[in-house]
Amino acid sequence: MFSQIYDRIHGLLTSPYSFGHCKTRTGYRILTTSRRMDPSLAKKTCKMCCLEMPEQARKCPHCHHFQNRWTMMMFHPGFAVLLFSLPLVAMMIVFSTFFDPGENYATYKDQIVISDCQIAFGNTKSAATAAVIGTIKNTSKVSWKDIKFHVDFFDAAGKRADVGQREEYSYGLAAGETSSFKVSFTREYPETNYVKPVVRIVGATDMRSRW
Ligand SMILES: [Zn+2]
Repeated sequence: MFSQIYDRIHGLLTSPYSFGHCKTRTGYRILTTSRRMDPSLAKKTCKMCCLEMPEQARKCPHCHHFQNRWTMMMFHPGFAVLLFSLPLVAMMIVFSTFFDPGENYATYKDQIVISDCQIAFGNTKSAATAAVIGTIKNTSKVSWKDIKFHVDFFDAAGKRADVGQREEYSYGLAAGETSSFKVSFTREYPETNYVKPVVRIVGATDMRSRW
């Protein structure tokens, strides 16, 4: 089986690939006259080298040229390569869509706009908290998830008094959507340190991404 394939491929590799035409009068005359006499002895001439061969031959015994395009394609080494690589290509397409990270947030970072930020203080059982409540608007055409909020807290003197960062895995923001948000932080300092919050979105993941 494999040696047969090897012979065919080898024969093909050592023969020219292009198609020639050899419509000699003698060639056709031999073909027609011999057919009338005995079909098993019928001859045809090679399209490439113009030498004679049995009419049933699919490959020229002299120059190894395949006599029709379909046979040549079937026995072309590229055909086998294609056949074996098709499942691989299909797998690669599946994997690339599965692991597609989607759009890069850095390209769109100016298209998410934060406004109307206010601070709300609270106390849980274990700690004091400072939460920022505000409005978030996605002006891009991409929907985002896993939005990473970064907050700088300034005191009354305009000095940066604390910094907080939080990734909201459950928070999704559709393309063109305006929504409210709240990010809460453990507060280590007095309330007077938390006068003005400045919120930036430092990271987000395209919602089409699975990861
Ligand atoms: Zn030939």
